Amino acid sequence: MIEFEHVHKWFGELHVLSDITLTIQKGEVVVICGPSGSGKSTLIRCINRLEPIQRGRIVVDSQDLGAPDVNLKMLRAEVGFVFQQFNLYPHMTVLENITLAPLMVRKMSRRNAEDLAMALLEKVNIPDKAGAYPAQLSGGQQQRVAIARGLAMKPKIMLFDEPTSALDPEMINEVLDVMKTLAREGMTMVCVTHEMGFAREVSDRVIFMDGGKLVEENSPEEFFNNPQSERTKEFLSKIL
Ligand code: ADP
Ligand code: MG
Repeated sequence: MIEFEHVHKWFGELHVLSDITLTIQKGEVVVICGPSGSGKSTLIRCINRLEPIQRGRIVVDSQDLGAPDVNLKMLRAEVGFVFQQFNLYPHMTVLENITLAPLMVRKMSRRNAEDLAMALLEKVNIPDKAGAYPAQLSGGQQQRVAIARGLAMKPKIMLFDEPTSALDPEMINEVLDVMKTLAREGMTMVCVTHEMGFAREVSDRVIFMDGGKLVEENSPEEFFNNPQSERTKEFLSKIL
């Protein structure tokens, strides 16, 4: 579903992604962790080409993102993205936030888009918030709306960039629970997170990045119980 072949990216002099080779299968749940500034956000932003690369190749669902005729609109419809900051439209209700892209991009009928939005609000456990504005919701509720909004495009892949980092502790689990449900339903997911409980429980693979490099990649059991590199050990000793 996602393939990186010897990917390099620079921001000016900064070699932010260095020789990244990575294959993610359909239905796989991959957690990416690593210190701040190691290139995690840049890496997942490359998957829907929010960031161009300078060397190597990225293929997403059989589309070569470097091809001159790559259809970015299609790509971004297929790849949902949930950020640390929820980025909901403040002047729109929850229902309007969720139906906007299905109406505009998928050209769905209003009736179908609203039925879908209501079903997704059930799924993220806030069916009663359809008419609320983002400012009337808690952070955890806003993030669940953001997930529902991503799912409304019926994506093949969901990307999460530290989706719980801006939340108060008591709201983290309500967001992780939704992500766990998605994972169990077979969604292909790439999650940048330091929630190691989530990684242990539902991920198929954990990737550790440092200094723009993919340092270690393993099953969660091996990653946590038997980390290979010194840098991974040091990182885990700080966060566990
Ligand atoms: P992480 O998500 O692991 O914290 P990022 O991918 O956000 O790391 O950033 C990796 C490095 O690239 C950092 O040193 C950051 O300052 C730098 N960086 C990120 N975005 C830009 C940008 N648009 N322009 C220049 N440097 C950037
Ligand atoms: Mg980041």
